[in-house]
Amino acid sequence: MTNEITGGCLCGSLRYRATGTPLNARICHCRQCQKAVGAAFNARILYPADQVYLDGPHKTHHSSADLLRGYCPECGTSVFSHRISSDWIGITVGSLDTPEVFKPEAHTWISEKQPWLTIADGLPQYQRMPS
Ligand SMILES: [Zn+2]
Ligand SMILES: [Zn+2]
Repeated sequence: MTNEITGGCLCGSLRYRATGTPLNARICHCRQCQKAVGAAFNARILYPADQVYLDGPHKTHHSSADLLRGYCPECGTSVFSHRISSDWIGITVGSLDTPEVFKPEAHTWISEKQPWLTIADGLPQYQRMPS
């Protein structure tokens, strides 16, 4: 990972950058992520919230008491998730300017993975979220 990543939503109203070392880079297969991003899984890079700078309008929706999903109010792109208790923000890889820089480290919530998706990258797979 480079020292700074940038990205934004489909319409460009909501932009962001994140700096420094991320906490981790994982692919989550839980149903909540599937719903939130409208896809089979959520590839995301996790940062302490104070390393993420949002620029533009955004709305949030609680997918659980502790997790907010953030999106552009104009175009609806799912841009981030914010875990309130730890103050961590996960950036959706699909919204990056250069998604190819993503280096996934593990798959989480394999217990809810879609059966038609075959993972063949050799990375660790966790049934749920490892602590
Ligand atoms: Zn937008
Ligand atoms: Zn998830």
